[in-house]
Amino acid sequence: MSELSSLSRRRFLQSAGVAAAAVALAPHARGQDTSQKKIGYAIVGLGRFGAGQLLRSLPECKLARPAALVSGSPDKAKQLAQKYGIKESSIYNYENFDRVADNADVDVVYVVLPNSMHHEYTIRAAKAGKHVFCEKPMANTVKECEEMIAACKAANKKLAIGYRLRYEPTHMRAIEIVQKQEFGRPRVIESVHAFNIGPNEWRTDKKLAGGGPVMDLGIYCINACRYLSGEEPVQVNAITYQPKDDPRFTTTEAQMVFNMKFPSGLLAYCSTSYAHHGANRFHMMAERAEIVMNPAFSYGGLKLTVRGGGGDKGGPIETPQINQFCAEMDHLAECIRDNKDPRTPGEEGLRDMKVIEKLYESAQSGKTVEVA
Ligand code: NAD
Repeated sequence: MSELSSLSRRRFLQSAGVAAAAVALAPHARGQDTSQKKIGYAIVGLGRFGAGQLLRSLPECKLARPAALVSGSPDKAKQLAQKYGIKESSIYNYENFDRVADNADVDVVYVVLPNSMHHEYTIRAAKAGKHVFCEKPMANTVKECEEMIAACKAANKKLAIGYRLRYEPTHMRAIEIVQKQEFGRPRVIESVHAFNIGPNEWRTDKKLAGGGPVMDLGIYCINACRYLSGEEPVQVNAITYQPKDDPRFTTTEAQMVFNMKFPSGLLAYCSTSYAHHGANRFHMMAERAEIVMNPAFSYGGLKLTVRGGGGDKGGPIETPQINQFCAEMDHLAECIRDNKDPRTPGEEGLRDMKVIEKLYESAQSGKTVEVA
């Protein structure tokens, strides 16, 4: 619990004149298991990220806990439910998922499905009366993002997008350095996110993925340029390449290179690819130093360095390594408990999607386009 939120809770209890009663009724005072007060998460989609990262991390979280699973593979779901202490009655499939409405154990539905399914499952979860965490990219189109935001608002439920790095200390320090202009005004950002994808992946099926690597990887570069600068791009352009002789790329491009211009004059040049050796980094060129994060978008081991800067200000910057998945899931749990807005709400996913749609417009027209 943050100091701030514990303070505001304390003030509320005191002002209501119920502090003494609350202490007497507190679960720990009655010898009850306080873990029951944690926010229950249903993980929808038990793939590499859903099972391999999020579900695996939930037992380590301070405020979040595993509560239900949604999967098309009953055996896999049963095995994982046993491993994570989830009741068999809290296993759902894609058809009966809406019954989660009757499960008081579930507070949040975390949508970790292929991109084209985010829209449907977010809306079904909101209609079931659950808060929603939805993976990036938020959806395949701007229209879908808007509908997801509207559905969660109508249900009076919170919607957060899985931008895990917004909860990560190295990125938080980089944002501080850039926005406080510790090394002068930011002028140019270069950012790359790429890996060499295997065959038969939904990520290269346009219907499921919504597009090419920019949907999955380039979105990190867009999001980082936006949150580092605190500005929204006003102009973008892009070029793509879809090889004719590579069976992985029959419906999507293999790579995109794009530029963004921000209101302060900051320029960004970024590239994203499914066709070359992995790379994930940004270099922010400010007036008096280069602020480098490499790797920048991995699950751990992020390295932030200032090159230049003068005197003893340059060099590597140490930050604590944390479990990024717990950080984001605990954050939404805290928002639900204290009725606060999430740091990465649906509107954040929508903004990135608006940029992506403009990048595709530019790639198709061959022109630089304005972002409204
Ligand atoms: P994955 O292929 O490993 O898992 C996808 C899951 O969806 C599987 O359980 C699969 O069975 C299920 N599924 C249901 N219908 C499907 C269909 N028609 N086709 C394919 N799978 C179907 O994918 P993943 O890597 O876990 O990615 C899932 C989502 O999580 C994506 O939106 C991705 O962008 C996001 N993701 C986010 C991060 C992050 O760091 N925030 C990392 C990886 C993935």
